[in-house]
Amino acid sequence: MPSHDWKTATRLLHDAPNRTPYGETSEALFLTSGFVYDSAEQAAATFTGDVERFQYSRFGNPTVDTFQERLALLEGAEACIATSTGMGAVSSAILSHVKTGDRVVASRALFGSCYWIVTSLLPRYGIDIELVDGSDHDGWKKALSKPTAAVLIESPSNPMLDVLDIQFIADLTHEAGGLLMVDNVFASPLGQSPLKLGADVVLYSCTKHIDGQGRVLGGAVLGTKSWISETLQPFTRNTGNALSPFNAWVLLKGLETLQLRTEAMARNAAQVADALAELSGVKTVRYPGRADHPQASLAKKQMSNGGSLIAFEVENGQAGAFACLNAFSLIAISNNLGDARSLATHPATTTHMRVAAEERARLGITDGVIRLSVGLEDPTDLINDLRIGAAAAQKSS
Ligand SMILES: *Cc1c(COP(=O)(O)O)cnc(C)c1O
Repeated sequence: MPSHDWKTATRLLHDAPNRTPYGETSEALFLTSGFVYDSAEQAAATFTGDVERFQYSRFGNPTVDTFQERLALLEGAEACIATSTGMGAVSSAILSHVKTGDRVVASRALFGSCYWIVTSLLPRYGIDIELVDGSDHDGWKKALSKPTAAVLIESPSNPMLDVLDIQFIADLTHEAGGLLMVDNVFASPLGQSPLKLGADVVLYSCTKHIDGQGRVLGGAVLGTKSWISETLQPFTRNTGNALSPFNAWVLLKGLETLQLRTEAMARNAAQVADALAELSGVKTVRYPGRADHPQASLAKKQMSNGGSLIAFEVENGQAGAFACLNAFSLIAISNNLGDARSLATHPATTTHMRVAAEERARLGITDGVIRLSVGLEDPTDLINDLRIGAAAAQKSS
């Protein structure tokens, strides 16, 4: 629990101060792999757990701890473990929780590597899996009528920005005896609070909005104190999925401006999405903040803004999409997202190339779809670049 009733912008700077006796302004960077003991007795007592103290940075590090504490306070979670990457967070959360014979249910529209973990890795260990279309409520009821250990969902989803009813899926998950894990990367921590909607575990790729400036990889898992300490921590400590102290320090700097950046990016994205919808050469626009989004009212209820990601389809399929991307002079072609710089990618040939064509079709990822991560540039400049791209797509037939 936060010790103050400060507002978010303040807490992003001042929660979990953890200053050393030197009184530094910025968080200290403990770039150390290990720690030394005053005596052999103290070392022994540390290993038995009688003395609480840093031992080794795979188990814990003061800079990483400060980041974990500040993020947990922001999310309203009891505990947090930071990991080396977002996929480290997803894989550790699931693998620490399940065993052979268990059942895992996931939403069909998942980030490419999450999809691989669920559909390729888990079955190898004798875990029964089922995928459900995000908005198919009967499908969720049916899938969760059997005992289920864990449910993994992403909302909004990558890349088509489907919005899933977190509260509804959380209730069904709990009836099935499982934990609901929500990959909250697309919404980002200030855009949506899955724990308040009934989720048990929240997952982040901190590489995205939390760093948000294209510098480091990182991940985080947030949940209850008991689940984190009894289930997740033994797994991450022993499998070595630790965040580097340097990256934790960079991510702390990222948190300082998280609200400023994500709110500005969402404002820009809303303006860009409306402009895109009017451009000739653009067939459809998907943005959770627009009234024509298929789950617009749910998005309004669950999210504090429409987020920074847009999916749009241009004319002339892959040729159109490639012509559009190649015509941009400002928006960079990159599969990263949540960055201060606007980035665009063609999911069918990059992030989702390993998803079978018929599965892509089912998810709505047609060959003309481009995913755009809107950054902090002036939206007027972005719209000009998109106009040139859309015109190139139209001419590419
Ligand atoms: C990027 C991303 C991940 C994986 O994060 P990494 O830091 O790249 O390992 C997981 N889920 C979603 C939705 C993502 O966008």
